[in-house]
Amino acid sequence: MYAFNPLKDLLNAMYSPKCASCGNLLVGDERMLCIECVSHIPYTCFATMTDNPLELLLEGSIAHVKATALMYYEKNEVSQHIIHAIKYYGNLKLAHHFGRQLAESIIASHRFDDVDIIIPVPLHPLRWLERGYNQSREISYSIAKKMAKPLENHLIARSHYTSTQTRKSHQERAENVAGAFKPHNLKRLCGKHVLLVDDVITTGSTVKACYAALSQAEGVRVSVAALAYAGN
Ligand SMILES: [Zn+2]
Repeated sequence: MYAFNPLKDLLNAMYSPKCASCGNLLVGDERMLCIECVSHIPYTCFATMTDNPLELLLEGSIAHVKATALMYYEKNEVSQHIIHAIKYYGNLKLAHHFGRQLAESIIASHRFDDVDIIIPVPLHPLRWLERGYNQSREISYSIAKKMAKPLENHLIARSHYTSTQTRKSHQERAENVAGAFKPHNLKRLCGKHVLLVDDVITTGSTVKACYAALSQAEGVRVSVAALAYAGN
């Protein structure tokens, strides 16, 4: 029988785990997301697909690129809620969870078997201080662990503090981020196949700018992995 206990009800409401997308209370075996939201995640099949839309977007700018993204980024839908929870609300458990899923798809595809090191798109130190974490590094952490490859967090750095890319046009994004990255250890990068990891790729201007820094090292190859692809 239900006994009226406002304090207990209030505490339950405050501390019961809620779905990171729709906010409904989680029940049974549900973790982080409810089953309804999980069923609406728009997964891509890019990992196994040569010439997938992300590779076509990057191929003119990144030589011999292999690229994958786990899901399509859809506005006002589950995938946007997931990315926002990770990027703006510090839900690092979600970053690790989907980082593992991305890694599993990469491993199963066997297209990225010769990757040597994992490098996250770096944040500018001021942005890192502002946010307290780098979401791409958190995603990379799970990928590196699953793939049993080293995570190299300091081989490139963001030297410009750039404004957010969210509301910029294709050209504005490219201008905003061009020259924003610098390599730190060209010797260590030489001859390596780098898997560059970002949270969301829209026009590709950020990963292209990272490539400009990484490719200063002789014989470096760059492949790209993202949680979400927001291109058309
Ligand atoms: Zn939900």
